[in-house]
Order: sequence, then structure tokens, then C-alpha cells
Amino acid sequence: MTLQCEIIPVTPFQQNCSLVWDTATMRGALVDAGGEVDHLLERVRHHGVQLEKLLVTHGHLDHASGVQDLAERLQLPIEGPHEDDLFWIEGLPQAAKQYGFPPARSFTPDRWLRHGDTVTVGSLTFDVLHCPGHTPGHVVFHHAPSRVAFVGDVLFQGSIGRTDFPRGNHAHLIDAIRNRLFPLGDDNRFVPGHGPMSTFGQERKSNPYVSDAAVKD
Ligand SMILES: [Zn+2]
Ligand SMILES: [Zn+2]
Repeated sequence: MTLQCEIIPVTPFQQNCSLVWDTATMRGALVDAGGEVDHLLERVRHHGVQLEKLLVTHGHLDHASGVQDLAERLQLPIEGPHEDDLFWIEGLPQAAKQYGFPPARSFTPDRWLRHGDTVTVGSLTFDVLHCPGHTPGHVVFHHAPSRVAFVGDVLFQGSIGRTDFPRGNHAHLIDAIRNRLFPLGDDNRFVPGHGPMSTFGQERKSNPYVSDAAVKD
């Protein structure tokens, strides 16, 4: 029952799509299939993974624009994000035009997620943490046995997600990082939506927005 993962950057925004799978069953999921669907499927085939679902952290274009195409082509269920991101998902076609992306389609998740839910991939179980602020319906997937989290655009190495979008909220974002992610433990690694991996401990030490020193009065 071991988690394997390949990070596959996609879209002009170099979004980290993660192919995660369970080595026991070789069943897997794509977290944030943001685009370049054929490239993603090539990696899936390369590893001999049987995809069983699509997981989505939030409704932004670079994280979600390949979701509907994949769901249709492979008849896969979509889980996530939290329902508060509905307006972002409905806006995907418009956002694609605005940012000069290939046409992107909206979708309807088979399952909206809430804080405290779990999702399964093969025999692996991920905990769902609702972490609003970057978008109101942003969720994080945490695999406790591997001590690894897929955090989307909540937290980056040395930075945090933007909160200047509609219904963004800086205070909510800081609160989610400090009070939902950091309590998972310093040794947890995380895969951000963009850029290199880091650990919660490293960010508590040196992230200029959410380090212990930065949030002290
Ligand atoms: Zn985003
Ligand atoms: Zn992003």
C-alpha cells in the first residue's frame, strides 16, 4: 500500500499536475488535470496505471481545464473541489478565452468535497482539508501514511497563493495554512500547484508570509 507520484507540469502556467497511484493495485488518479490531456495520458500509460478518478483542488483554469475532456474520454468520476468554487468552474470557458488558453470546458463534479471528507485511490485514503482564501472552495489532499499533501495554490515554497481574485481572502488563507496545514506536522512534504516541493517545517521557518516569525505580532 504505497503511494507513488509523478509531477507533470502542464499549461503555459507550468501547473503541477500529479499522477498518484497505489503500487499495490496500480490504480491511480490525476490531481489537477489542468491541460495537455494527451501528454498526461502518455505518462499514465508509461507507468501502467489504471486511472480510476480525477481529483481537483480548485476551479482555476490551469488546474481544471483538462478535467471534462478526461472524464468523458475515460468515463472517470470527478471528485472536488468544494462547492464554493462552482462559479470558477462555470467560468472556465470564459477564462480560457481571457488567458489565451485552448478552449476549456466546464464540468460537474460527481462529488463536491468538504472539510473532513476522505477520498480513495486504489487502497490509498487521502484526507480532505478545506483551505479557502486563494479560492473559496479550495481543498487539499493529504496522504497521512506517506506524510505528503497536494496543496494546489494554497502554499508554495517561499510564497502563498494570490488572494486578489473574486472572493479571495488573505486572512482565510493564512488561517488555513497555519491552522489546517501546519498542524499536520513539520516533516510533511507538499506538492504545490506550481514550483518545487517543500515541507511544512521549512515554510514555518522561512516563508515570508506564514512563518512563525512572520505571523508573530
Ligand atoms: Zn489557482
Ligand atoms: Zn495555479
